[in-house]
Amino acid sequence: MNSAVTHDIAIVGGGLVGASLAVRLARSRHRVVLIEAAAPPQSPPSWDERCIALNDASQRILDDFGVWPALRPDAAAILATHISEKGRFGSTRFDADEAGIAALGYNLPLRAIGAALAAAMKQAGNLELRQPARVVALDDQGDAVLLGLDDGSAVRARLVAAADGAQSSVRTLLGIAAEQRDYRQHAIVSAVRLSRPHQGVAYERFTPDGPMALIPKPDDAASLVWTMPSEQAAAMMDCTDEHYRAAAQAVFGGRLGRFTALGARRAWPLSRVVSEAVVAPRCVLIGNAAQSLHPVAAQGFNLGLRDVAHLAERVAAAADPGAPALLADYASSRRTDRERVTGFTDLLVRAFSNRAPGLSQARHWGLVAASLAPPIREALLRQHLGHLGLPASRGVVS
Ligand SMILES: Cc1cc2nc3c(=O)[nH]c(=O)nc-3n(C[C@H](O)[C@H](O)[C@H](O)COP(=O)(O)OP(=O)(O)OC[C@H]3O[C@@H](n4cnc5c(N)ncnc54)[C@H](O)[C@@H]3O)c2cc1C
Repeated sequence: MNSAVTHDIAIVGGGLVGASLAVRLARSRHRVVLIEAAAPPQSPPSWDERCIALNDASQRILDDFGVWPALRPDAAAILATHISEKGRFGSTRFDADEAGIAALGYNLPLRAIGAALAAAMKQAGNLELRQPARVVALDDQGDAVLLGLDDGSAVRARLVAAADGAQSSVRTLLGIAAEQRDYRQHAIVSAVRLSRPHQGVAYERFTPDGPMALIPKPDDAASLVWTMPSEQAAAMMDCTDEHYRAAAQAVFGGRLGRFTALGARRAWPLSRVVSEAVVAPRCVLIGNAAQSLHPVAAQGFNLGLRDVAHLAERVAAAADPGAPALLADYASSRRTDRERVTGFTDLLVRAFSNRAPGLSQARHWGLVAASLAPPIREALLRQHLGHLGLPASRGVVS
């Protein structure tokens, strides 16, 4: 069957990454449809929801997409990052001043980002939303791809952008393999109130069981992301707030005084899923569908947003957004950034979750080198900011 093309671009998945692409492409002349399986969320944002640390590159991209002004009131600036290892003296700190920028990044409630993107999508003229609807079939028809939805309808588009998450059904329908590794760890996420001001400093503290991150929120609260082996996480989810607060405080130490209150806890299983290819005929995988990472370095959405920026830059004005040369160019533009960030994140998890004595020394000297050696500092800082993966048109690329 070769029925008419209904859309130029079909985005599958309306999570943070798919919605960001939809907002950006709604400014183009393409007919865009976004297909999202879940019904819209009902509950309003609250202070103990999961937060996302956006780096400087992501802030620039969201500003460019016109979304940043709506996010600014909810954003807590990250002015510095302090990295240390429990039981060792080596530590390092990166400051926004040394990078010559106002903030290294911003911490934001995930729901606030989602709400801003949803509002921007609502205002867009040439964007169609199919929600709830799930893609269940895919047929490459040469000049377009036919997507079958679970409500019995179909969409025929020149390009399918799959932003349908780590267990991407589009990736499966395309027969693209993915490397999957279960870290056997969970991250427990909650909010804490602090008895001393955090002054905009984010902390990453490595322990032999896994890292603990404390990321500033407004009003001397912080997001606490504590990673630990899955069995330990199950016990920590069962214990009382008081026990959990004391245990977290013992790991973090007293540099921000006492944790005076604790928000609701939620545990996330952690795995790495890296797709073996990010393009197929008239299809592209972006965000978690392309690579899903351990949150240790807070890179998942930041990297996914750079996928969006690079893809949008290529397809926005293209006559045929699914042209093979365009997709090949996109895949090659993402190779280095993807490899660097997925590799670095995995290295961090493995190096800092290992008790081998040699590795312990290496970690110590790694932190010392990062605090002393200018080229190492500069490379780490630029990676942290996300500048190494920005499209050239954003003007801060090497
Ligand atoms: C504890 C934790 C902390 C994190 N902290 C940070 C951080 O500080 N900074 C950062 O950058 N990243 C962070 N991340 C990573 C970040 O949350 C993810 O990278 C990001 O949310 C992925 O978004 P996505 O849109 O690619 O995928 P998803 O959020 O998984 O969205 C996929 C969407 O596709 C839909 N879908 C699935 N299948 C279909 C289908 N067949 N048809 C239609 N729709 C479908 C789903 O309903 C879903 O809405 C963290 C992750 C965790 C677990």
